[in-house]
Amino acid sequence: MQPPGEFALIERYFRRPGGADGVLLGIGDDAAIVSPSPGYETVLAVDMMVEGRHFLPGTDPERLGHKILAVNLSDLAAMGARPRHALLACALPDSDPQWLQAFARGLFALADQHGVALIGGDTTRGPRTLSLTAVGDVPAGQGVTRSGARVGDDIWVSGSLGDAMLALAILQGERSIDEASLAHVRLRLERPEPRVALGMALLGIASAMIDVSDGLVGDLGHVLEQSHAGARVDVDAVPRSPTLDVALAGPARERALQYLLAGGDDYELCFTAPRTASAAVRAAGEAARVKLSRIGTITEPGSGLVFVDGAGAPLDITLRAFDHFRT
Ligand code: ADP
Ligand code: MG
Repeated sequence: MQPPGEFALIERYFRRPGGADGVLLGIGDDAAIVSPSPGYETVLAVDMMVEGRHFLPGTDPERLGHKILAVNLSDLAAMGARPRHALLACALPDSDPQWLQAFARGLFALADQHGVALIGGDTTRGPRTLSLTAVGDVPAGQGVTRSGARVGDDIWVSGSLGDAMLALAILQGERSIDEASLAHVRLRLERPEPRVALGMALLGIASAMIDVSDGLVGDLGHVLEQSHAGARVDVDAVPRSPTLDVALAGPARERALQYLLAGGDDYELCFTAPRTASAAVRAAGEAARVKLSRIGTITEPGSGLVFVDGAGAPLDITLRAFDHFRT
């Protein structure tokens, strides 16, 4: 197949026939036009992925298509928002039809799962860089922010943490595990499932929420900063996969703890809720079919973020949150 030019490429891989919910004008004009839902507010997020920085060269394009949407839906989920539309800006080194076809397949499979319409974007030649803007909505005044945690609130985490960083460490040759376990943690790195249904189910229940993209220590830290509070987290209660559990029991325990508590790319939700809302939290988890774990408590401002073990002893390692501009 002849590699397509810019406009043929957009037409062939990104423009799909038929209308979509709330879309008055989609791909093909200078800009898209959408109509707001009465009584709702618009929620917007953008996230970028750069080859060599956010993903390894040679990563399966279908998984990249999935992930660039997934990471943005995760941001919307953390606000309790319903995803609706997306805009995709990409720089590509070439217009390889096989790559584009697989990328579009991964992107649209997840988009269809969540009723998201791709309504525009930009396409240019350059070092492989993907940027997606996700547009969603939330009932007016109900968006869940990072600033609502209160002293005494429980701290909850969905799913499990740390597998993505474990997978990255393995792919980079820092450690090794058996094939089946690698396949499992690699899915967590390359094909995260955004907790959209859970985020929406927690509307009116969660007092503060964030998605764990840069590691628990950093992301919970953002909640504490914006809520002017501290927290005490039981390390043993932080949910981890059986694979990471094995790593935690091994000689490189400290490294494994870093993956669990400070690793990135988890895309789970971390949220707070008053103790009185526990039953409602559990019900939201069940409705969304996502496992929830209570990992700690919000404490007085100034008490910082303290990790303790099951016996209450403070953890004696320094955790580093991920930061692109720190080494
Ligand atoms: P303009 O020159 O006005 O920016 P473009 O030629 O860049 O328009 O894009 C033409 C149309 O195709 C626009 O509607 C734009 O939103 C859409 N588009 C371009 N690239 C993409 C993409 N990667 N995915 C989805 N839509 C795209
Ligand atoms: Mg353009």
